[in-house]
Amino acid sequence: MDRLPTLFVSHGSPLHALEAGDAGAAWSALAQTLPRPRAILVASAHWDTQLPMLTGGERLETIHDFGGFPEALYKVRYDVAGSPALAARAAALLKDAGFTAAINACRGLDHGAWVPLRWMYPARDVPVVQLSVQGGLDAAHHLQIGAALAPLRGEGVLVIGSGHVTHNLRDWMRHRDDDRPAGYALEFAAWLHARLASDDRAALVAWRDEAPSAARAHPTAEHFLPLFIALGAASDGARATRVYQGVDAGVLAMDAYRFD
Ligand code: ZN
Repeated sequence: MDRLPTLFVSHGSPLHALEAGDAGAAWSALAQTLPRPRAILVASAHWDTQLPMLTGGERLETIHDFGGFPEALYKVRYDVAGSPALAARAAALLKDAGFTAAINACRGLDHGAWVPLRWMYPARDVPVVQLSVQGGLDAAHHLQIGAALAPLRGEGVLVIGSGHVTHNLRDWMRHRDDDRPAGYALEFAAWLHARLASDDRAALVAWRDEAPSAARAHPTAEHFLPLFIALGAASDGARATRVYQGVDAGVLAMDAYRFD
């Protein structure tokens, strides 16, 4: 079986579940260019745990993990088959790499996982396992988590990291009626693009110190960390292709990448 690429997507606000615009069209087109995966392993910024956790349920419920949005959004569901076998396989790979990982048989999918999947695989016919991030740990940890999971790419599993290229919710509240991209968001996204283009992993893991406006782009790291899981699961020297570029509400950089 051919090895699948890995993906990083910026999932946008929960409203993207109702209307995803150009980002949704790009997610949909991306899925159509890929070989059909046997299963999906998606790491979302919205499940932040001390140790890596995997969903182990046969059936994953839709978690509406947000408040204050229009009623119609709470009616959108992405209930989908889980894959206890994939969860067990991923936990075993993590254990072999020295990580303590655990399986949660009750948890469903949060919006970081299901909003992009709703547009990528609308038929809900590909089983999904979600993986948590460790917001208290650094980029190198997440790169190693990804590397441990790399064999899954040869087993028909599509590994996706779902976060954001920039994610400052205070700026988003202030900026939401102004669509002009903020300079810092563009600068951070350009820095990221250049480092990914040259697969400069040393600079990437040092992003807190090296990237322009890192603290403003990510006051907390959890939305950036899924990138490192996707990158780690791709081979060293992987070719990064930006498959979507955009800034939502002026400050939320929405870029998406595939790593081949
Ligand atoms: Zn989010």
